[in-house]
Amino acid sequence: MGRVERVLIRCGAVVSVARRGEVIRDGAVLVEDGEISYVGGRDGVGKWSKDDLVIDEPRGVAIPGLVDTHVHLAQALIRGFVPDTVTLIPWLREWVWRLQGVYDNEDGRASAELCVLEMLRTGTTTFLEAGLHARYGIDGIAESVLRSGIRAVLSKKVMDLQGYASIGNALPEGMVEDGEECLKQFLEARRKWAGAGGGRIDFWIGLRTPGAVSDEMFRRAAELAEETGAGITMHLAEVRDDVAYFASRGFTPSSFLRGFGLLGRKRVYAHCVWLSEEDLEAFAATGTSVAHCPSSNAKLGSGIAPVARMLEKGVNVSLGCDGGPSNDSYDMVREMKVAALFQKALHGPDRFTAWDALEVATIGGARALGLEGLVGTLERGKRGDVVVVRTGSPSLAPFTDPVSLLIYAATGRDVAHVLVDGQPVVMDGKVLTMDEESVIRRAEERFEAVREKFLSGRT
Ligand SMILES: [Zn+2]
Repeated sequence: MGRVERVLIRCGAVVSVARRGEVIRDGAVLVEDGEISYVGGRDGVGKWSKDDLVIDEPRGVAIPGLVDTHVHLAQALIRGFVPDTVTLIPWLREWVWRLQGVYDNEDGRASAELCVLEMLRTGTTTFLEAGLHARYGIDGIAESVLRSGIRAVLSKKVMDLQGYASIGNALPEGMVEDGEECLKQFLEARRKWAGAGGGRIDFWIGLRTPGAVSDEMFRRAAELAEETGAGITMHLAEVRDDVAYFASRGFTPSSFLRGFGLLGRKRVYAHCVWLSEEDLEAFAATGTSVAHCPSSNAKLGSGIAPVARMLEKGVNVSLGCDGGPSNDSYDMVREMKVAALFQKALHGPDRFTAWDALEVATIGGARALGLEGLVGTLERGKRGDVVVVRTGSPSLAPFTDPVSLLIYAATGRDVAHVLVDGQPVVMDGKVLTMDEESVIRRAEERFEAVREKFLSGRT
């Protein structure tokens, strides 16, 4: 399909997320030259021509594209392979790092393509990669991401030590990188890929957790981010050991970050299960964002982040699916439900609603990435990143409150159409920009190769 200039979407409901509670019944969205030019009732949309792409879904719900702010592209390949009986640190040391530590560029690319295929198919239009290792093949991955049509913030993992929290030599050899090389590769990748695809791709710094990053490297990464305008992402306070490590050095998570100039906009910290009230205040005051990953935190027994409290304090919260073996899915529609259910179970039904879930998964994510002027809501002047969820199936009938249906009854497989930058990337549940069958077959082949390398290395 060539470039599409005008797309008219007519739906049973349009939920723009621009105003909480507003559902436009029998609504329409018009996208022209990649930009949203109309959101409102279908009668007000004006004329269209036979050259326009018209999407008619009388039982469809149009929402802004979902924004996943914590993705490990390299982990889709090892989905379902890691036992579900271990907590984070043995899970990483015995399994995930050892598996990823045998990847080559082909494995990295096959995993990234499978991951992006699933994200597009399930309504994610923008994502933040947690940190790519050189061994996954950064250029190959960036090329695949660019070609898929998705909007992405990629990042280079930056580290110069081998530990995790207070555990020395936690990282297997295959995952260890040189600090200077990491910075060089980040700069190279940023020069090459930031701004590609008409601004669809950005490139950030993905710091490894304390224990694998020296104080000097934290300082330099913060300086480099300032100089280049790149954002920074890192795992933080995922398990209690992380907080204990900060305490052993006389810090809290937020005082540590503040000391290195790592609080502020476009600073996205994944998990944040064990942050204190004081940490939350520091995050709120500086515009620092949390990437909440409820499925991953539950599966690894890490805990439940105090998200209702974060929102009350004014912290910007976004949502993340995390990785293949921790979730084991990259379906943001399902993740919204998990987020809502956990907060309700913890605090009662009124402290985190379906609307909260939808906001953190859209505009919350856009804010975390500094993209709130471009995406995150359906508003005139923003980019045409639009998802249409089709209701009317046995799981999604009758057509009652569209937001409630979306959060509690839908899954990503109910996504029918996806536009990114005004271009159709999924139509009628079919990804147009990738060959689904060959991506899956390739991932199966590469998984076998990885498994063999992993098993022979274990002896
Ligand atoms: Zn992660």
